[in-house]
This record gives sequence, structure tokens and C-alpha cells, in this order.
Amino acid sequence: MQTYAYGFPRLGKNREYKTSIENFWDNKIEERQLQEKLRKLEEERLAAYEKYVDKFPVGEMTSYDNMLDTALIFGLHKSGDLHDYYNLCRGKNALKLTKWFNTNYHYLVPEFGESFAPSGFNIAWNKPEAESRIHKKGIPYLIGPFTFLKLSRGISPGMFKEYLFSLVGVYAQLIKGFKEVHIEEPAFVMELSREEIRWIKQGYEKLGAQNQNINLFTYYDSVDFLKELYDLPVKAIGLDFVNGKENLASIKKHGFPEEKMLIAGVVDCRNVWKTDVNGVVGFLKEMSEYSKKLIVSNAAPLYHLPITTEGEGLDNRLLKDVAFARERLAELRLIAQIYEGGKKVPEEKTETVFDLGRDIKVQERIKNLKDADFKKAVPYAVRTKEQNMILGLPDFPVTTIGSFPQTPQVRKKRVLFKSGKISQEDYTAFIREEIAHLIRIQEDLGLDVLVHGEFERTDMVEFFAQKLNGIATSKKGWIISYGTRVYRPAIIYGDVSRSEPMTLKEIAFAQSLTKKPVKGMLTGPVTITAWSFVRKDLPVYEVAYQIALCLQDEIKDYEKEGIKVVQIDEPAFKEKAPVKKSQQDKYYDWAVKAFNLASQSKPGTQIHTHMCYSEFTEAIRHILSMDFDVITIEASRSKGDIIEVFRGLDFKRQIGLGVWDIHSPTVPSIEDMEDIVKRVLKILPEKSLWINPDCGLKTRGWEETTAALKNLVGLAEKLRERQ
Ligand code: GLN
Ligand code: ZN
Repeated sequence: MQTYAYGFPRLGKNREYKTSIENFWDNKIEERQLQEKLRKLEEERLAAYEKYVDKFPVGEMTSYDNMLDTALIFGLHKSGDLHDYYNLCRGKNALKLTKWFNTNYHYLVPEFGESFAPSGFNIAWNKPEAESRIHKKGIPYLIGPFTFLKLSRGISPGMFKEYLFSLVGVYAQLIKGFKEVHIEEPAFVMELSREEIRWIKQGYEKLGAQNQNINLFTYYDSVDFLKELYDLPVKAIGLDFVNGKENLASIKKHGFPEEKMLIAGVVDCRNVWKTDVNGVVGFLKEMSEYSKKLIVSNAAPLYHLPITTEGEGLDNRLLKDVAFARERLAELRLIAQIYEGGKKVPEEKTETVFDLGRDIKVQERIKNLKDADFKKAVPYAVRTKEQNMILGLPDFPVTTIGSFPQTPQVRKKRVLFKSGKISQEDYTAFIREEIAHLIRIQEDLGLDVLVHGEFERTDMVEFFAQKLNGIATSKKGWIISYGTRVYRPAIIYGDVSRSEPMTLKEIAFAQSLTKKPVKGMLTGPVTITAWSFVRKDLPVYEVAYQIALCLQDEIKDYEKEGIKVVQIDEPAFKEKAPVKKSQQDKYYDWAVKAFNLASQSKPGTQIHTHMCYSEFTEAIRHILSMDFDVITIEASRSKGDIIEVFRGLDFKRQIGLGVWDIHSPTVPSIEDMEDIVKRVLKILPEKSLWINPDCGLKTRGWEETTAALKNLVGLAEKLRERQ
């Protein structure tokens, strides 16, 4: 049995990818040096493949993102040198970043301007060929034409077919000379129309005519049109059997074409628990009745996992049950060996990692939850009156989303503290100084609802993960979120509980310094589960409810200390929704319940939530079932478009308009922001609007932060005067 792997992380064990690119941006290294470093990383990646598996792609390395590279390969966007290239990735005229399927990886969205006609495609950069020169065994890698166009912007639906057929013509030219080619079409797992499926068929006919050795990969879910997929003239079809459970049922129903190879994706890349190797071998034996040409593979790209567990500081008992990318490669090899008649892995009857984190008290609490726990008893109309009396805020209250600039000094102190070079007392004193300083600044600026600034937090999920029982964090388990931004997903292995308040000290201290309300600041249960690897012995909703209860307890503690406003961030609320729309209701049902469970509080406590994006169309009806009083959303990049989704909805609650795009270093003018508010006021009443940035200010500098906040307050004053 052959093994085939793809998507191995490009980050490097010590985040060399990040540092090299950032050094280039800071002019510390030249283009040539960066290219050498990226080449070295690619060689390391290929060496990992070579060590463990028979087949793998070459050319997955990118200087930023493979969707962008695809656009450059086919002449949709243009770049001369790396400076041009990075101008497309960041800065003023950068392409939009969006989440890649239901993952937390963000890709650059290729943009079809009006002047780009279907005939505009050409082979502007033969990246696959150039890359395949590095490694003869590697199979040239490409994102498929359908996925590329489906995930781009600016193609009117009536023109999609034209663009697809034209692009396919150029693809066909490109792949013509390759012995074998690796094409990924994750968009095949979306719910496609009959028409789209027909186009795919016609398109691949053209590709197949030029190259008979296409290995076609689908992943993240099952393919609904497997029967038609069989008709494509490709050599091998890759299917995800981990997150695409339906694939198995479809194969049982339709069989598998005799002449094709089945690349069975059986090793999980969206989670870290070791594969049940014996079980998988059994599964493959079953599969071999349908396909004589079986290849074993990972079920999704490996870059959703950190590189290796080697040298990780995880608890040993946990470590033995966890696999990252490199360990997944080893699993593939082991599976193939056992399949070929090797000895089975001895079954250990010892405790599993999930036994390690069992907590009866938590389980009891979950069992005892009633419907009433998932919905506030007091309706918004009543809550808001009480809140207004307590808070006495002006119209157009101004607030921020939570974090303030994390200066090098703040980060340095944290490193010193973590490495034991400064004491707990010194660190606490330092954080307190930062908070006190920030409270003064916010008061001087004239903000209405203040925050403590989140100086003590590294990452909004990791921070809570480190405080909660049942969740582990890694030392070097980085994965890329976008470009050079990385994070370390936490690992939820046990029942989640809170030994003591997690954020109360800082929030209460901030509140003690001012008469204005300070917002308690929490990361929501959906986002914590979405950005972590989650135990697999419990349904994910139950894990989310456990976390929700911890947050609910935290809010109770806030209330005792006189905190009147609490924000529960849910930036991952939409991201976690399944790729297939037909499965989304089920997800949203528990996601809303988890949020509501967390936000159970006194009616007088004002609950905010924050979601920092503007594509709400599909999620809005679910978002409306969430028990928040105020929702802050992105409104600047979309120039207020977002509000259109509220048109015609009976929305009676309050919205914080993110009128300042914090992803850009530009300070927004009062006039620009006023335009957005004016647009919004045509749809929503004045009384419902707040003024705020569109996300946390962690990555901004102080100078632009104070300048922009001044304008935010100026805007609110202007709006109030007008009344
Ligand atoms: N409260 C968080 C912050 O301000 C929210 C971050 C986010 O939405 N991603 O940093
Ligand atoms: Zn945000």
C-alpha cells in the first residue's frame, strides 16, 4: 500500500517562515536572502515527506498564500518582485483576507476587476514547473480551477462558466508537460448546483485530455456528487473519511471506479488525537473491496496541525495520545506497514488522556442543565430599561473592543515573568500600572465605557486555556492564521472547570479607578472551542457548554464586584459553521445555546458581544437568537454595508459600529466615519448605535490609537449635537 501526504506546514520548527518574512519587511534581509530561507524551509518540508511517505506534492511553499500564488500563476494579479508581491498581501491596496472554508486559516481573496475578461488568463508564472525542479519525486501542486474561481471575488454569477472554461484552457496548457499533477479542489465538498457540477465535468474533460495523471484531492467534508466525480478523467481521487463521513456511505452505494485509485484520507488533520491505527487498517481492508487501488493519506492538509510534538512541554500522559503533522506522517507509514501484513499495534488497556481530565462535578452540572439555562428569562425590552438606569450613558456611547497596544515593553515583561526573571509581584504591579495608565487615557479622551486593556493576555483563547482545568497549551505548537500571523491552539482534553476567577482581579482593579463603567472581557465558548483542538470522546457542544458555565461563573463574580458591562467575544462564531449549509442549523443551535448559557446574568448587567467581520447574511438569523444587549461589528471596510442585513429585521437591540478599521494604520477622519453612521441611521434608530473600532487595538501603535480614538469621540459629540 502506498502512502501519500500533502499540506505539511511551511512555518518551520522555530517559526523561521514568520521571522524571515518579517525581517524582509523590516528591510533586515534582502529578497534573495528571503528566497533562500524559503527554499530551505521547502527542502525541510520535502525531507519530512520523503522520510515517511511514498508520494507528495512539491511547490506548496508560498511567500504568503497559495490562493494569491494561483492568481499570479494565471495572470489575474501581477507582481514583479517580492515588494510588489507583499503589496498585494498587506498595506493599502492589499487583497481582502477571508477564512478558508471552516478553518482559521485566512487566504487572500483573488479579485476580478471589471477590466479582466475571461480571455485574460495566461501562464504568467509557471510556479509548479519551477518548483518541481527542486525535487524530482515531488508532484507539481496546484489549487484546482473550480476552487480558485469559486473562492474569488468579482465574477458575476452569469459569467462564472466563461471564466471557468477559459481558465481550464490555460490550466490544461500548464499541466500538459507534467508526468503527474496534484490538484486540490476542496470546493467540491460545498453544496454545488447541477449546473456547476456539469461545468466541472466539462472542465476536467479538457484537463484530462492533456494529462492523464491527475491526482484530485477533496477535503474538509464529503462530496455530494461522487457519482459524477467518478466520471472525471483523473487518475486518482482523494476523499476525506474523517470529516466527510458521508463519503463512505456514497462509496457503499455507488462503488468505486475500477480504473481509478482511491486516495483514502484517514488521518485527521483538524484534530490532534492519535489515529486508531488498527481501526483504520480494518477500515481500509473494508475499502479494498470497493477499490483495488488504494492509497492511504491524510484527510485534510497537514498545515492545520503544528509541526511536531517533539520537544513539547505537554504533560507526558497527554503527549502519548497526541500527534502533530510529523507524527501524522509516521502514522501513515505505520498504517501501510500493518496493512501489508505487519503486526498490529498492541492495544493498551491503560487510561486514556480523556480519563485524565474527568471531573464528575462538571459532568453533573451539564446533566442538570434545563432549557431555561439557555435563554434569558427577562426580555431585552425590560433589561435595557434597567441597564439604562444603572449606566446612564449618553447617546452614541463610545467604547473599544478590549485590547490596547501591546508594546514591546509589555511583551518583554511577559517573557521575563514567564521565564522566572521577574517575580509575580513585580509583574502584577507592572500590569496594574499599565491598567491605571490606560484608565486615565480613556477618561481624558472621553470614552464612555472603558476597558482594562488586556495587557496580561497573550492570545484571547490561550489566556483562558491556561487558566482553565482540562485544557492544555503547547510551547511551540504554532500554526498560521494568515501570512506571518501564528497562534498556538489549545488542547481541550478533559472536563473544563475554573478553580478561581480568571480575569476578575484586573477588571475589578480597573473599575476601582473610575466612575465610568469598565467592561469585563471574556472570550466566548464557541471561539474557545473553535480555536482549540477538542477532545473527541464528548460531543463538541458539551465541551462548549462546560466552558460556558465557567464564563457564567466569572460573570457572577464580576457582578459581585460591581461590574455592570461584560463583553463576550465570539469572533469565531461564523467560522465554525460546517461547510455544507444543510448542516449549519444544527451547529448554530448549539453555538447560540453555548453563548446564551455563558451570558446568563442579572438583567441589569449589559452583555456585549463582538464579531469582527461583516458577512452576516447567513448567520444573522442565528445571531439574533443570542442573548446579547449590544453587538459590535465591523462596519468600516464594508462602509456600512453590513447594516443592510438588518434592514427589514425587527432588530430592537444595540449595535456598536466598528467605524475604524484597525487593520490599517490610517487614522480615520470624523467625516469618513460620519458617512458610515449616516448610512446606518437610515436603517437603525439613533438610540441603538454605539461608536467603536472594529476590533481590538493590540497590534496598533499608541500614536495612531489616541488620534483615532479622539476622532471617535469627536464623531460622537458631533452626532449628539446634531440631535
Ligand atoms: N477583546 C479582543 C481584543 O480586543 C477581541 C479580539 C478579536 O475579536 N479577535 O483584542
Ligand atoms: Zn475582533
